[in-house]
Amino acid sequence: MPDSALHHGWMAEALRQARKGWYSTHPNPRVGCVIVKDGAMLAAGWHEYTGGPHAEVNAIQSVDKIPAGADFYVTLEPCSHHGRTPPCTDAVIAAGAARVIVAMQDPNPEVGGRGLEQLRANGIEVISGVLEAEARSLNRGFIKRMQQGLPFVSVKMALSLDGRSALANGVSKWITGEAARRDVQFLRAQSSAILSSAATVLADDPALDLRLTKADLGQQREPRPPVRALVDSKLRLQGNEKIFSTDGEIWIYTCSDDAARRNLLIERGAQVIRVDADAAGRVSLTAMLGDLSARAINDVHTECGSGLAGALIEQRLADQVVLYLAPHLLGDRARGGFALGELTAMDQRQPCRLCDIRQIGDDLRLTLDLQRN
Ligand SMILES: [Zn+2]
Repeated sequence: MPDSALHHGWMAEALRQARKGWYSTHPNPRVGCVIVKDGAMLAAGWHEYTGGPHAEVNAIQSVDKIPAGADFYVTLEPCSHHGRTPPCTDAVIAAGAARVIVAMQDPNPEVGGRGLEQLRANGIEVISGVLEAEARSLNRGFIKRMQQGLPFVSVKMALSLDGRSALANGVSKWITGEAARRDVQFLRAQSSAILSSAATVLADDPALDLRLTKADLGQQREPRPPVRALVDSKLRLQGNEKIFSTDGEIWIYTCSDDAARRNLLIERGAQVIRVDADAAGRVSLTAMLGDLSARAINDVHTECGSGLAGALIEQRLADQVVLYLAPHLLGDRARGGFALGELTAMDQRQPCRLCDIRQIGDDLRLTLDLQRN
């Protein structure tokens, strides 16, 4: 078998290891590692949680001794700096690795490549870029945060088959069935934050909580309750909505200076974060997302009405849309899902690329990447 096919096979196994951290590594990246010698896998490891051992160290420590001359397959460049744990390059060098094969370099422009250089300087052969696209999709939020200072933003929307999100009178419970609503719980669990708006919270009073346990998620530890980030330009929330009595931090983004309302929400346990206003006098979504990134939020899962959803798309801040389509029609008097300005030519359309489609209960789930035109 040619070397490249071998590398792909073992890297696929390392990626499988990394995926075990799908729900838990935040804000760190998901990373897996396998150690191979003479065609046999000696050890495997993955990064489980921030502050815990990295994948390479978990793999090394999973067996008594790694013989010298082994190949290390890692889905991300080993770290060479002292963070919460000692550098992985030291551990790989101490284990006497012959080759280190990585899927991708560290996306942090300040450290990217240094780990690989250090390995090479210690006589280790380094191969980079094996199954890179797969490794990138595993950590798209982490990568975007490191490279752009913004989180990956996914907008979830439940629509009737004719694209309607609510009746004309605003009633939207429930467009989709129970299975789809349970599926959304998994989207919440894999995200660093749930984003919504004061308008949605005041209208629907959602709990925006996580009701899945470690058993549901196949994890060893209970999932952390998600951060709920809310756009509340004028501080209209009262502090008695359901989200204030469910688990998880509440971060309220506002451009209001109303101290009384601010103090009330702080007393109710929320953090109130003042950001710049946009031209319309509402919270600047760019400023808000920049702040979320600075707070180590990799992936934002948005559950909101057509206003915020449309604004995120129009301002090119959303990366993905997850549409749940229910098999019924609400008619053209019902409300649409995305408030976008009126288009006058077809070339103004927002193009999407269909990445995944599947049936969830009686509903369809479409995952679409938003294309930049
Ligand atoms: Zn490391």
